[in-house]
Amino acid sequence: MTNRPWSLAECVEHYSQSGIPALSVWRNVINPDEGGIGLDQAARLLGSSGLQVVSLARGGFFPAWERAQRAKAIDENRQCIDEAAALTAEMLVLVVGAVPGMPFAEARKQVAESIEALIPHAEACGVKLAVEPMHPMYAAQWSCIHRLSEAREVCELLKHPLVGMAIDVYHVWFDPDLEEEIHAAGRQGFLFAYHINDWRADTQKIQGDRGLMGDGCIDLPAIQIMMNSAGFKGFHEVEVFSDKYWNEDQSAYLELILTRYRELMCAVAKRADTKENSRNGSHRAS
Ligand code: ZN
Repeated sequence: MTNRPWSLAECVEHYSQSGIPALSVWRNVINPDEGGIGLDQAARLLGSSGLQVVSLARGGFFPAWERAQRAKAIDENRQCIDEAAALTAEMLVLVVGAVPGMPFAEARKQVAESIEALIPHAEACGVKLAVEPMHPMYAAQWSCIHRLSEAREVCELLKHPLVGMAIDVYHVWFDPDLEEEIHAAGRQGFLFAYHINDWRADTQKIQGDRGLMGDGCIDLPAIQIMMNSAGFKGFHEVEVFSDKYWNEDQSAYLELILTRYRELMCAVAKRADTKENSRNGSHRAS
């Protein structure tokens, strides 16, 4: 989705040439009804690419007033798990859903029950399920899980090695318990995926207005250091939905992404160094 104007084949080609080791795939890219290339062709393309497939995005949308509708959502998610397995994706990312007017606590209960119902199929296919907490501006229809603690509670309730979280800085940067929650998730093995981008201070709309790292106001080095110290060893996935960048030349944009990513990693190293030095300094002083 970050290089949305490119086909999957173009993404594979350009990412491979740039030394990017992995990617995640959105379902619209493979769904023929949405102009996608079909599951088999996508699986062949990715299989021969040498790129690792981190996740398939996205499943979820579980809560519903009617039981039959909830069952239908679970069936659709079983299909998502099959697709993830066919693409050798490590996990399915879950945007858990919300229903306007339904209390969030009830919606979260339905989410937990639905994920529980999916576990046997996830086990059979060897696919992890990653709950992605989402910024409350998506609370009406997309997600009843906004804070990391709410995602953690679902993971703790189900307590299964295939159930964890996708941490997207866009959705969690404001969380008052961010550091404690990332560490708590790390201790319990819930940190499955990590999405990076930025929150533009003058954000105009809820879709298609994300920033690239450095465009906005998120303290990305701080969050990266939290993820590192919580033991996260997975990929750093640049996930930017941006009408602005989608209108630009994608090769130049990919270069910019790589530059910004390297700058972020330098800032992280510098910050970690400063922290280490000040710790040593205070030891010496004491
Ligand atoms: Zn994300």
